[in-house]
Amino acid sequence: MVGPYICLKGKQKKSVLLKKKLKAPIFLSIIFLLTACGESSRKLVEDTAKNTEKEITYAVTKTDAEWRAQLTDMEYYVLRKAATENSFTSELLNNKEEGTYVCAGCATPLFKSETKFDSGTGWPSFYQEIAGNVAYDVDYKIGYPRTEEHCATCGGHLGHVFNDGPQPTGKRHCINGVALNFIPKDQQ
Ligand SMILES: [Zn+2]
Repeated sequence: MVGPYICLKGKQKKSVLLKKKLKAPIFLSIIFLLTACGESSRKLVEDTAKNTEKEITYAVTKTDAEWRAQLTDMEYYVLRKAATENSFTSELLNNKEEGTYVCAGCATPLFKSETKFDSGTGWPSFYQEIAGNVAYDVDYKIGYPRTEEHCATCGGHLGHVFNDGPQPTGKRHCINGVALNFIPKDQQ
């Protein structure tokens, strides 16, 4: 009985040793696989982001040179380079006429005068966009996420939307006046 017992113990020892020997390569392979997956999924996300960027085709699409030629310097930097005009500089800031605010790049109607309000920020502000004509994105330019908004027809940057606006929407569309042209009601 002693013999087989010892033998069994020996076998067990052997298999334990074998397991220990196996553990290291398996462990390393798992780490390798995880790292590899991490790399490939990150690459996938990057590729997807690049592809999405490439795939957005606006109804009005122009080359950078064409936009430069068509727009004033300020319109170009705001609409095409997402710059921000200085506050209290827009001629449209205190405009209280009835009419429609259209994209300075492609004339798509973006905001109606009845949704304009004085936010005190120094930028023309609206509590509602003309549905479907404005598109949204998120930017991290100043360190935290903000909802960027742009013309859905030409992709021109307009401004940002915040959740501290008046009722009925509670939204504050903070828009660069230079990105807009105003069409008075009687000229529509
Ligand atoms: Zn536009």
